[in-house]
Amino acid sequence: MASERGARTGPARTKTPPVFMYHSISPSDQPDPYRLRVHPDRLDRHLRLLRRSGLRGVSLSELLRAADRGEARGLVGLTFDDGYTDYLEHALPILQRHGMTSTLYAVAGRLGGGNEWDDGPRLGLMDADRLRTVAAAGQEVGSHTMTHPHLPGADAESLAAEIGGSRTVLQDILQADVVSFCYPYGEFDDAAADAVRAAGYDHGCVIGDYDPGDRFTLPRCYVSPRDTGAHLVARMARHAVRLRLR
Ligand SMILES: [Zn+2]
Repeated sequence: MASERGARTGPARTKTPPVFMYHSISPSDQPDPYRLRVHPDRLDRHLRLLRRSGLRGVSLSELLRAADRGEARGLVGLTFDDGYTDYLEHALPILQRHGMTSTLYAVAGRLGGGNEWDDGPRLGLMDADRLRTVAAAGQEVGSHTMTHPHLPGADAESLAAEIGGSRTVLQDILQADVVSFCYPYGEFDDAAADAVRAAGYDHGCVIGDYDPGDRFTLPRCYVSPRDTGAHLVARMARHAVRLRLR
């Protein structure tokens, strides 16, 4: 494993296009202390801006496949963490209107429940049927562990249960390969990244962390509830600079 670890901190940095991270998409005006909610009209403006810029939003799997072929130019990644039910009602129609795909990261041990890992407002999580609807609509479902724990420092047994176990659950539900993983809170360490690889995923993503930034720790750009198109453009420019500088 030493050589793999070496690869992660060395030249294996994956030069993927920017990946945007959303959570809840809803017109609700309830308190949002963790700034997880983007209004559907705002998402629509973001995707319209991408299209006007000649860009197309795609799922992480599609993005990585294109990057592997050297054909990722013109693409950006779109991800939605936690698997909130509002994705079906509010995000999916907008994605479809713009001809874009995304990866939805589900917490496999909390399906049909709520975001109990946050001590803020409760948001509903999709159940198995809704996840199948997401997949049938041509969107990707990835894993966000079983229970949304903090992974760094976890023992091998917990890592296997959270990372590998969630893949098994989601594959049983979807009857399809689940290849995309997302670290809760964006937190990872070498052991967690190794566990993602060992569990059979193709890639994993974090939050705004460019070190090491390889296939199993892909950086993402957080989208805040108030981000305008100009903010997105600035985030994309910053992403390009950070990848070139290293
Ligand atoms: Zn999360």
